[in-house]
Amino acid sequence: MDAEQLRENAHKMVDFIADYYNNIETFPVLSQVEPGYLQKLLPDSAPVQPESLQTVLQEIETKILPGVTHWQSPDYFAYFPSNSSVAGFLGEMLSAGINMVGFSWITSPAATELEMIVLDWLANLLNLPHHFLSKGPGGGAIQGTASEALLVVLLASRDKVLREVGKDALGSLVVYGSDQTHSSLQKACQIAGVHPENLRLLRTEACNEYALSPESLTDAISHDVASGLIPLFLCATVGTTSSTAVDPLLALGKITKKYGIWFHVDAAYAGSACICPEYRHHLNGIEEADSFNMNCHKWFLTNFDCSALWIKDRNTLIQSLSTNPEYLKNKASQGSTVIDYKDWQIPLGRRFRSLKLWMVLRLYGVENLQSYIRNHIKLAQQFEQLLAQDSRFEVLSGKYILRFVVGAPLTEQRHITAAWRLFQEAASSLLETRLP
Ligand code: PLP
Repeated sequence: MDAEQLRENAHKMVDFIADYYNNIETFPVLSQVEPGYLQKLLPDSAPVQPESLQTVLQEIETKILPGVTHWQSPDYFAYFPSNSSVAGFLGEMLSAGINMVGFSWITSPAATELEMIVLDWLANLLNLPHHFLSKGPGGGAIQGTASEALLVVLLASRDKVLREVGKDALGSLVVYGSDQTHSSLQKACQIAGVHPENLRLLRTEACNEYALSPESLTDAISHDVASGLIPLFLCATVGTTSSTAVDPLLALGKITKKYGIWFHVDAAYAGSACICPEYRHHLNGIEEADSFNMNCHKWFLTNFDCSALWIKDRNTLIQSLSTNPEYLKNKASQGSTVIDYKDWQIPLGRRFRSLKLWMVLRLYGVENLQSYIRNHIKLAQQFEQLLAQDSRFEVLSGKYILRFVVGAPLTEQRHITAAWRLFQEAASSLLETRLP
C-alpha cells in the first residue's frame, strides 16, 4: 500500500461516494436492467496493463450504477432497513485501512477487546441480563449475519445435547419455531443435520398477532417427548420478518427451561428499537434466553455486515467450534486468559467489525440513536394515517399484502408522501381497469 497513492485516490473515491449520495434520489430505486446486462458491457478478461482510477470510476457510473438497487435511497421501502451512515462508513474505511485478520487475541488484541467492550455497551443499552456480558461466563461476538448467529448457537446446542445422550441421537433432535420464523432456521437445521421432519414451524393466528402461543409449543413438545424424540432448540422472534410479530419470551422461556431446551431469541430487525425505553418491553423475558441476536446492519446505522450475538455460556459455543492446530498456538491462547473469537464462529478469519459499531455509538451517542428510531416509527405512523384516510386500503398482516418499510437513513416526510401518492395512483389505475 503506497500511502500517497492511497491519499490521492481515496480522496477521489470519497468525492465519488459523496456525489452518489447527493444524487441518490435521481436514480430509480429498483435497478431497471435485464439479467445478463453486464456481461454485454464488460470485456471477457481482466486487463493486462493497469488502468486509471478515472477510467474505472467512469465505468462505475455508466455500467455499474445502472445495475444497482439503491438500498440507501430515501425512497427505498422494501424488505427491511439496511443502514449506512457517516460513522458506519468511516469505521468500515478504517477497518479496510488497517486490514488485520483478528481471529485470535494475539492477531490484534484491540480488535478482540474492542468487540467485547462495544458489545457490553450495546447489551447494557438494550438492558440485557448480566449473564450476556463478557465479565461473566457469557459474552457477545459479532457475526456476519443473523443466519450465521443462529447456525452457531444451533450447533452449540446440538453438540451439548449429543455429548449427554450420544451421537446416535442426532436423528431424534427436534427444533421449534413458528410459521413466522425467518427461513434461516430451516437453513441452519439443514446444515446442522437436524432431520427435516423434526423442524416444527408451529402455526400462528391473526387473532394472536402471529405470535407463537405457549400452549401450542407445550403441545408440540409433549407430543414429541411421548414419541421418544428429544426437544433441542426453540427460536423465538422479536419482530418477525413478514408480520413483525413478537413472541411472548417469558412464557416460552419458562417452557424451554422445564424441558431443557436451548432458547434463542432472534431480534435481527426490530431489536434496535429496544434501545428506546418505551419499546424495551418487547424484550421482557430475555433473561430466560440462552442466546440473543440483533443486526446492527439493519436499523442501527452500522454498515453491512454487523450482526451482534450474545450467549449465556460461551463455553458451549467454544466446545462446538474450537480447533487448536499447531500453527495457531500462542502463549495468550494457551494461558486461557483471552478470548479467541475464531472459536465463536464458522470461519477462521474475521474483520475488525467492532470499529464501525464503536464509531456509530461514539459519533452519534445514545440520544441521537434513540431519536433516529423514534423518527422512523413516527414516519411509519404518518404513512399509516395517510392510508387510513383512503377507504380502498386497510392495514393488515399475514395475507397477501403490500409491504412498506420505513428505515432508510435519508427518508423524510416528503418521501413518505411521494410513496403514498404512488400507491394511490396505482390503486386508481388498478380499480379503473377492473370497473365494468
Ligand atoms: N431474522 C429476522 C427476523 C430477519 O428479519 C432477517 C432478515 O430479514 C434474518 C433473520 C436474516 O438476516 P441475515 O441476512 O442477517 O441473515
